Amino acid sequence: MVPLRFHSTNRRARAVDLREALLTGQAPDCGLYLPEAFPRLAPSELAAFARLPYPEVAFRVLRPYAEGVLEPAMLAQLCRDAYTFDVPIQPVHGRVHVLRLDRGPTASFKDFAARMMARWIGHFLRERRQSLTILTATSGDTGSAVASAFHGVEGIRVWVLFPIGEVSDRQRKQMTTLRDNIRTIALEGKFDDCQALVKRAFADPDLRFLPLSSANSINIGRLLPQTVYYFYAASRLARPGEPMVISVPSGNFGNMMGAVIAGRMGLPLKRLVVPVNGNDEFPRFLQTGRYAKIEPSRNCLSNAMNVGHPSNLARLVAVYGGQMDEHGALQCAPDLDALRRDLFSSSVSDAQTRTTIREAWTGHKLLLEPHGAVAWRGFLDYLAAEPLDGSPAVVLETAHPAKFPEEIERILGLAPEAPPALAELDHLAEDYDRLPMDYAAFRTYLLCRHEAA
Ligand SMILES: *Cc1c(COP(=O)(O)O)cnc(C)c1O
Repeated sequence: MVPLRFHSTNRRARAVDLREALLTGQAPDCGLYLPEAFPRLAPSELAAFARLPYPEVAFRVLRPYAEGVLEPAMLAQLCRDAYTFDVPIQPVHGRVHVLRLDRGPTASFKDFAARMMARWIGHFLRERRQSLTILTATSGDTGSAVASAFHGVEGIRVWVLFPIGEVSDRQRKQMTTLRDNIRTIALEGKFDDCQALVKRAFADPDLRFLPLSSANSINIGRLLPQTVYYFYAASRLARPGEPMVISVPSGNFGNMMGAVIAGRMGLPLKRLVVPVNGNDEFPRFLQTGRYAKIEPSRNCLSNAMNVGHPSNLARLVAVYGGQMDEHGALQCAPDLDALRRDLFSSSVSDAQTRTTIREAWTGHKLLLEPHGAVAWRGFLDYLAAEPLDGSPAVVLETAHPAKFPEEIERILGLAPEAPPALAELDHLAEDYDRLPMDYAAFRTYLLCRHEAA
């Protein structure tokens, strides 16, 4: 079996298989990996998904990417191991539904991809008897999803850096209560400073002996598993071959790229709605054809979407026939007409986000947190522009409302009930190290810790 190959969006690096793309992360030419061709799933295969549980759908969607590098039986096992939680589809009205991707161990949709990527990487390391150190900076959701996903995975050690003053108690506890192969380091400073320390460590010749990886959101392993839930939702909501509307609250555009790829693999889409918060560089680009990133990014309520230049935009541009470099410069324009035909994007303000949380609750008993509220409001904007005509629609809720108890309580006067994974955090003891925001201290720490382990 010839493995599917992945090429770089910058087109100056050689194509690699899934194993190498996963272990490398970013391509050597600073581009992002994309499959050379998208495998097509036959309509009969899609129709069969209706009777399959989530891990089995995941196996069938991901199989073509892993062919030749991962035994099918092993992939099926990893899928069963990764997807042990519910994926509820909540009816709202008519054929409109909310897909709740908030039931994983860290209560955000990032669990779906992080758990699969961790298992893939763990498998490939075992195969080669190698080990890997993952160094990552987080402002909240990513760090906890990555740390939880790699917790207990043999051959991998994770160091997570976080700004002590910028993460919520719950977010911090999701990382600091794991222990074993996970170490968390609190720094006095801002997220950007933590990120800068990580970048310096990657470039440091004295640390070259340490096999370091970032496992960040540009890794193709964080993207492919995000195609699965679109197939899953369609298999439950749409008739075979019937196009669906999907609304995805977007920041770095990894989640929406999952839907774009699902579309290329044969999932019928009527429209992909990509609402953003006040960081409106993408809807402006769709409208004007001119792209300008927002620096620094704007602070909005839906904080996991405070992105002034989506890191996956280069991939979207590439799928639509253009080329964008790692700095956000368009080398070659994508097919804007096709983009406008397939996508709909609007910007949702914080005031609209709050109103939407209230109206969804009073109107439909639909409990949303800020990210899901942006998705819902963007979907309403779409409905105002174009009739649904009886098509099925699915709006994504990407985090559990209990992750934002203060905001929800202020708006609705009720406290969302925490799922078990979040509730039990209150009783677990924390363990983390504290360091000053200083590269020399950080390097000494890494070297000592490495010796000690
Ligand atoms: C990361 C995140 C998003 C944005 O997803 P992207 O793939 O970066 O577009 C939306 N909602 C929540 C809760 C997130 O954690």
